[in-house]
Amino acid sequence: MKKVALVAHDARKPIMVDWVGRNLDIFRQLDLVATGTTGKVLLEHYPELRLERLESGPRGGDQQVGALIVANAIDVLFFFIDPLTPMPHDVDVKALLRLAILYDVPCACSPRAADIVLESVRRAQARRMGQQPASPAAFRRT
Ligand code: PGA
Repeated sequence: MKKVALVAHDARKPIMVDWVGRNLDIFRQLDLVATGTTGKVLLEHYPELRLERLESGPRGGDQQVGALIVANAIDVLFFFIDPLTPMPHDVDVKALLRLAILYDVPCACSPRAADIVLESVRRAQARRMGQQPASPAAFRRT
């Protein structure tokens, strides 16, 4: 397992905080990287996380995550995009998605998709630790 990247637009940050909180058992075991404000909010709620903060998204953080993808340093991207608000850094949002697709990094943009991707992270982590994965959390509507 390399790193898991977390990015949430402002309107989606509470959703990401809630989603990470419901999955703290696995997030506590992972190396995380997040754009600046997403990382700040997550660390305020869960200071125990092993989380590296980059720049804020609109100030280049999305591009930093993209550069990590190019460097093969990101395994999974959880990118909770706000579909209702125009963004000054829309080009960066598109560029990050484009790189995730280009380098075939699994990317989930909403909580239910994230549950499914996280389930495979959970299984990979359990295999690595030589354990059976706990009962599947994916496909669970919350
Ligand atoms: P932020 O960036 O975590 O610094 O808010 C997210 C984004 O808008 O890309």
